[in-house]
Amino acid sequence: MEDGSEQLKHACGVFGVFGHPEAAKLTYLGLYALQHRGQEGAGIVCSDKGQLNGHRGVGLVSDVFKPHKLRRLRGDRAIGHVRYSTFGTSMLKNVQPLMVDYHRGSMALGHNGNLVNAASLREQLESDGAIFQSTTDSEVIIQLIARSKENTFENAVVDALKQVIGAYSLLAVDNEQIIAVRDPLGFRPLWVGRLGGAHVFSSESCGLDIIDADWVREMEPGEMAVATEEGLRFWRPFETASPKPCIFEHVYVARPDSVIFGQSVDEVRKRLGRNLAKLAPVDADLVMAVPDSSNQAALGYAHESGIPFDMGFIRNHYVGRTFIEPDQSIRDFGVKIKLNPARSAIQDKRIILIDDSIVRGTTAKKIIKMLRRCGVKEIHFRISAPPMVNSCFYGIDTPNRERLIAAQMTVGEIRDYLGVDSLEFMTIEGLLDAVHASKDEYCLACFNNQYPTMVPQDFEHRRVASRHVDTSTELLI
Ligand code: AMP
Repeated sequence: MEDGSEQLKHACGVFGVFGHPEAAKLTYLGLYALQHRGQEGAGIVCSDKGQLNGHRGVGLVSDVFKPHKLRRLRGDRAIGHVRYSTFGTSMLKNVQPLMVDYHRGSMALGHNGNLVNAASLREQLESDGAIFQSTTDSEVIIQLIARSKENTFENAVVDALKQVIGAYSLLAVDNEQIIAVRDPLGFRPLWVGRLGGAHVFSSESCGLDIIDADWVREMEPGEMAVATEEGLRFWRPFETASPKPCIFEHVYVARPDSVIFGQSVDEVRKRLGRNLAKLAPVDADLVMAVPDSSNQAALGYAHESGIPFDMGFIRNHYVGRTFIEPDQSIRDFGVKIKLNPARSAIQDKRIILIDDSIVRGTTAKKIIKMLRRCGVKEIHFRISAPPMVNSCFYGIDTPNRERLIAAQMTVGEIRDYLGVDSLEFMTIEGLLDAVHASKDEYCLACFNNQYPTMVPQDFEHRRVASRHVDTSTELLI
C-alpha cells in the first residue's frame, strides 16, 4: 500500500474575466486563490479583440507567471486554468487553457472535470483524420467544437457538449465572448461574479474574494453563461437532469473559505467533525488535525466532544513544486517535508487524530509512525469521510480500486496496518446530514459505487496508460 507510485491529486480550477483592462492580472490572482485545485500547471489565454494570446507552464501559478510574462497578456478578457493531471499526463502540452486556430478563428478552453466517453469519441475523431496535440480529454471538446456544423461559436460549443458525457465546469473564449458552462449533473462548482462592469467566473467563491469581486451566484447544473460586449446572458441548452455535485469537493477539495453547491465548506466540515464525535466518541486528552484540509473537521469534533483542540502537527507552507512532481523518490519524502509533529503538545497524550480521508493509506501510515516516535500514548484515528472504495471518473484523481485501502481491507485490518489504537470512519448518513441532503442530491460514487453516468469498462486502463511525463516546462502560445 505504501508504494505511493501514484500521487493523489485534486480536480482542476478555472477562472475568467470579461470586460476589464487588467483581465490577465486579475485572472492570475484568481488562479492564485484556486492553486489548491491544481499544482502541476497553469495557464492564461487572453483576447485583445483582435487575437488570442497566452502563456502556459508547468508548476505553480507564481512559478509560471513572472511580471514580464503577464505584461504580454493584453486585452480585456481572459481565461485561466490550474491543472492536476486527472486524465492525460502532466506534460506541458496538456496544460490548459488549450488554444487553437480553426475555421471560425481562434478559441481557447479551460476544463475542470473528466469526460467518461472521451476515449471512444477520440477514437472516432482520429479515425476521421483528426490530429490531437495533447492527451487530455478536454481536447476532444475542442475537436468537436471545431468540427461542428453550427454557425456560431456558442452553438458549436453546445453542439460539442451534447456529445460528451461526464463532468465539466468549463470556460471557453474567442475574440467575441467568454462562455461558461456547468454540465447537467453539476459535478464541479462554478461561480459568477461581478467587478464593476466586468463579469468574473471562478471555480470557487474564494477566487472572487481575492479580487474583491461581488458574488453574483453559482452557475446552475446544465447552465451556460455567455459574456459579450452586450452583457451577460444565461440559458439552458441541455435536457434537465437531477444534479449530482461531487460530495468530495466538500470533504476535501474546496477551500474552507469558499461556498460551493449553496453551502459554506467551513460549516460543512465542522458539521462533519461534530457528527464524527457523536458517531465515534472516545476519551482522550486532545483533538488534532492532519492539517490543513482536516482543520475544520477537527474543530467540529473538539466542539462537540468538549475535548480541547491542539495543533499537534505544524505544516510547512513553503513547499514548492519539487514535492509535487510525480516522482516516487521525492514523494516519499513529501509527508515529512510538509508536516512535523509539535512534540511538547502531544508527548504522553492520548490523541484523537482527524483526517478527511484515507485513500491509499500512505499518508496515514507515515504520520502515525511520526506520532509514535514522539511518544504519543494513544492514537484514536477518526476519518470525516466514509471508506473510499471506488475510483472517481469525474475529475478527482484517485487511484485504481485495487490501490484504495478501504476496498482491500476491513476497518479492523486498516487499524492494524496503520498501528492505531482505534479507527472509525464517517458513515454515508452522517456525511449527508452534514450537507443537509439526501443521497440522490450528490454524487457519492467513491463511497457507494453509484455512478450517475455510464462508466466505460476500460476507463481505468486507459487513464493509467496515458501517464508519462516530459520535461518541458514552459510554452508561449
Ligand atoms: P492517502 O495517503 O493515499 O491515504 O491519501 C489520503 C490523504 O491525502 C489525506 O490526508 C487527504 O487529506 C489527502 N487527499 C485525499 N484525497 C486527495 C486528492 N484527491 N488529492 C490530494 N490529496 C488527497
